[in-house]
Amino acid sequence: MRTLIIEDEHELAEAMADGLAAEGFVADVAHEGPDGLWRALNEPYDVILLDIMLPGLSGYDVLKRLRAAKVWTPVLMLTAKDGEYDEADALDLGADDYLSKPFSYVVLVAHLRALLRRAAPARPAVLTADDLALDPARRRCRRGNHDIDLTAREFTLLEYLLRHPDEVLSKTDLLTHVWDEHFDGDTNIVEVYIGYLRRKIDAPFDRLTIETVRGAGYRLRSGAG
Ligand code: CA
Repeated sequence: MRTLIIEDEHELAEAMADGLAAEGFVADVAHEGPDGLWRALNEPYDVILLDIMLPGLSGYDVLKRLRAAKVWTPVLMLTAKDGEYDEADALDLGADDYLSKPFSYVVLVAHLRALLRRAAPARPAVLTADDLALDPARRRCRRGNHDIDLTAREFTLLEYLLRHPDEVLSKTDLLTHVWDEHFDGDTNIVEVYIGYLRRKIDAPFDRLTIETVRGAGYRLRSGAG
């Protein structure tokens, strides 16, 4: 899941990005309102963390312009209790949730996961394809009764595939949502990680959950087989 953090306190922003990366999120950072707005309008994020007092353009203005441009990416506002705005303003202006500073990572991640669940109401909290099950909140992956150990990157890749079942996803799509913007290698890395996943979720069970669609990308089959 790709997140955008718009926060001008550099230390806090970097710490949040590191914390989220450790949880398997991809996290990009913008330190000013206009830059954050530009990214939010032009890049595909799954969720946005938005500070209020920002140089150039306040978080409220970023949010208003995003919604005016019909960008409905879920937004979690980071509010300060002593600020001139309050939580009610955040929700009035179209934020999906808010979190008062200071907050712990555990709470931050719980709010993000809840937002992602609400953003995709048709999807259950545990993602499944036949007898393969991935539980993002518990960081757990199982095939039938077998626990499968995945690295953070493998987990994120499989989560993204499971959130888009039966769709053909190009290597570029996957690179965008599963690797961060600082990754400057080529798209072959996607192929490598698809291979790692297949060796864990498919090969030992004689399955073919992740199909290669020649010249187009990959497709996760939601049905049996
Ligand atoms: Ca600030």
